[in-house]
Amino acid sequence: MDRELWNKVQDILSGRYENRTKRPKRHFTYTGLIRCGHCGCSLVAQLQKGKYIYYHCSGAKGKCPEPYTREEVFDEQLAEVLGGLRFDDEVLEWVTGALRASHDDEKRYDDEVVARLRAEYDKLQQRIDAMYVDKLDGRIDAAFFDRKSADWRSEQQECLATIARHQNANQTYFDEGVQLLELAQKAGEMFRTQPSNQKRRLLGFVLSNCTWEGGELTATYRQPFDLLAKNVLEFSQRKRSGEPETAISEIWLPDLGSNQGPND
Ligand SMILES: [Zn+2]
Repeated sequence: MDRELWNKVQDILSGRYENRTKRPKRHFTYTGLIRCGHCGCSLVAQLQKGKYIYYHCSGAKGKCPEPYTREEVFDEQLAEVLGGLRFDDEVLEWVTGALRASHDDEKRYDDEVVARLRAEYDKLQQRIDAMYVDKLDGRIDAAFFDRKSADWRSEQQECLATIARHQNANQTYFDEGVQLLELAQKAGEMFRTQPSNQKRRLLGFVLSNCTWEGGELTATYRQPFDLLAKNVLEFSQRKRSGEPETAISEIWLPDLGSNQGPND
C-alpha cells in the first residue's frame, strides 16, 4: 500500500480530516459523486420546501426518465454498499490471524537480516579499534588510518540505515493491514454517522463509478477494497473448509510485501 493511501486510511479512522479542512458544510452531500445510469449525466440536487433535498439527472443529454430522489435514499443505499465490506466477527478474527501469521514470517526474516547487520557493524568496529592500536604503535601511518576508518565508518552508517528500514517496514506492514481491515469493518457505520464533508471523503476513497438507475445504486469498490470485497466470500468458504491461515495477505493486500527494497 503506498504511503498516500495509508495516510488517508489513518486520517479517516482518526477523524483528523475533520480538523484539518475548513471547507464550509455543503448542503448537497452527493453533488458530483453520482451519475445517472440512463444517460451518464451527473445528478444535481435541489432544495424543496426549504428542507427536502432531491437529486435528479441534469438532463444535459435530453429528457431523462429517472424520477427525482430524496437524499435519504442515497444515504441508505450507500451505507449498505459500504457495509458490504464488513466481515462477520468470526471471519474477521480469522483474517486478522492470517495477517498476524504473515507478519510473524516477515518479522522472522527482518530479525535475521537485522542480526546479520548488527554483527557486521560490530566486526567493522573491532577492525577500527584494532587499527587504532596499530596506529598508536606506529605500525601504520595516520593517513592510512584516516582513510580506512572513514571507509569502515561509512559502511557502519549503511548498516544502521538498513537496520532502521527493516524495523520500520516490519511494523508498517502489520499496521497497514490492520488499519485497512478496521476501516473496511467500520465504513458503513462511519458513513451513517458522519457529516457531509466526511461522507464525501469516505465515498471518494472507497467507491468509484456510483450510478443511479431505476431506483438502484450501483458502485465499484476502489483498490484495495475491491479485492477485499471480492474475497470476503472466499475467506468465509476457506474458513469453513478448515484451511490454514496462510498467505492470505497476498490475496487482498498485494502491495504490502513490496516495501522490501533491493538492499534486503
Ligand atoms: Zn439521466
